[in-house]
Amino acid sequence: MGELGGFMKHDRETPSRRPVPVRLLDWKEVYQPFDSAKLKTQAGRCMDCGIAFCLNGCPLGNLIPEWNDLVYRSDWQSAIERLHATNNFPEFTGRLCPAPCEGACVLGINSDPVTIKNVENTIIDRAWEEGWVQPVVANVKTGRKVAVIGSGPAGLAAAQQLTRAGHAVTVFERADRVGGLLRYGIPEFKLEKAVLDRRLGQMEAEGTTFVVNANVGQPDGPSVESLRADFDAIVLAGGSTAPRDLPIPGRQLSGVHSAMEYLTPSNRVQEGDLAVSPINAAGQHVVIIGGGDTGADCLGTAHRQGAASVHQFEIMPRPSDDRAIDNPWPMYPFIYKVTSAHEEGGERLYSVTTTELVGDEAGRVHTLRAHEVEQRFIDGRMSFDKVEGSDFELRADLVFLAMGFVGPERNGLLEQLGVQLDGGGNVARAADYATSASGVFVAGDMGRGQSLIVWAISEGRSCAAAVDLFLMGESQLPCPIEAAPTLQVVATATRSV
Ligand SMILES: Cc1cc2nc3c(=O)[nH]c(=O)nc-3n(C[C@H](O)[C@H](O)[C@H](O)COP(=O)(O)OP(=O)(O)OC[C@H]3O[C@@H](n4cnc5c(N)ncnc54)[C@H](O)[C@@H]3O)c2cc1C
Repeated sequence: MGELGGFMKHDRETPSRRPVPVRLLDWKEVYQPFDSAKLKTQAGRCMDCGIAFCLNGCPLGNLIPEWNDLVYRSDWQSAIERLHATNNFPEFTGRLCPAPCEGACVLGINSDPVTIKNVENTIIDRAWEEGWVQPVVANVKTGRKVAVIGSGPAGLAAAQQLTRAGHAVTVFERADRVGGLLRYGIPEFKLEKAVLDRRLGQMEAEGTTFVVNANVGQPDGPSVESLRADFDAIVLAGGSTAPRDLPIPGRQLSGVHSAMEYLTPSNRVQEGDLAVSPINAAGQHVVIIGGGDTGADCLGTAHRQGAASVHQFEIMPRPSDDRAIDNPWPMYPFIYKVTSAHEEGGERLYSVTTTELVGDEAGRVHTLRAHEVEQRFIDGRMSFDKVEGSDFELRADLVFLAMGFVGPERNGLLEQLGVQLDGGGNVARAADYATSASGVFVAGDMGRGQSLIVWAISEGRSCAAAVDLFLMGESQLPCPIEAAPTLQVVATATRSV
């Protein structure tokens, strides 16, 4: 159980970030290596609770107390085996997850939670360094073929599980590289793409086939009919890619872009495709509309490009520094956070809405008009009232819209498959991830709506077990505990792996 009483002896300690002036000069990840002796101490803070709420907080059901203890005892090889038992890609979640597990850690009731995410990341990085992450090749091939459409974390997790179950899996990706938002959304300073490529190499060695530049359902891509004819099952993992727009006067001006229009070419510069991004914030006054992760990625990107100023707007009020009364442990804590991008500069404005964008004669944005709002709830419905007299203007040479995504794109693939959508505009699915079209399943943001990497991996694993069951009549693929009874899988979920 880690160190007896370790949680009373040692404070929480996390890796430090590289100094801001230094890290703004490059695009490398911001965190410094963490001393392994210190990490053991941190893992030893785990109390191995009788009821480990962290397990429940994690959508993957990661076996957190087990690998904390193994790290404390320096059994790193066993630790990665337990970690991989529930998570195909701990290097993605270890770097990028907002760690709902830490929000649910029992130690967090009256102290600082265990640094679960850092322990996870260190286990997997060490495993790669030691050569412990090897291809897991299926001994028996089933002769069944599965098409996975979309290569984000949901599609990759489903593909890896199904390949390991012996099916012939082909992943179709419309972009020119594999990875979904891990590739062209999330910037290099949060996830160096070599980390992604390393995992893709393992998947290829296991036998998963990747086809890029394959926009399924569009005239220039594979047709839905051909996939139906060639494959025994289809997994939809196309993400939630339709951005929420801001229909205000001036939206059409040049210099106003969705976040993904901005982040994609910047990531292409890091891939070596472009010398300079066509949307470059160097010397520009930037306003980002949207206070979430996507907005923070635009912020860090703009600073690395050399923006003159950056403001980030959020319509919601500033979160409190501590948990609010209606947000108790073990819920995910909605509190004020300073991400690495926020630490690098810029100004965050809360309770603000934008009303108009004003351009010059050439049609290029130069000013943004906005005002403050007050949040109200009437009959449980949220609304925002203008604070009279709070109007203001701001110089804006570039405006990035980072207000989230409204669901999957409907034309092409989804229309041709004829799958039903749910009330939120996402692909409707049953408890076993089956869509309304026979033999067609869905995982990740395309069915769930915009979410997190950890959920995408979790759903990819569960969906793979459902597809395996559909193809074979039984399945021994592990999946997160909550899906297991529904799928009637032979294995008793993750703990038996
Ligand atoms: C900028 C940004 C930053 C984020 N940062 C974080 C973070 O730090 N931590 C976190 O947990 N989450 C983060 N998220 C959310 C997270 O990235 C997503 O929840 C996750 O990637 C969803 O995975 P997915 O596999 O469902 O879809 P995606 O990653 O969106 O992948 C879908 C893929 O399907 C492809 N596709 C779509 N249609 C077709 C078609 N017809 N044919 C072929 N291919 C198709 C797309 O090109 C895409 O590559 C972020 C999101 C954004 C936008």
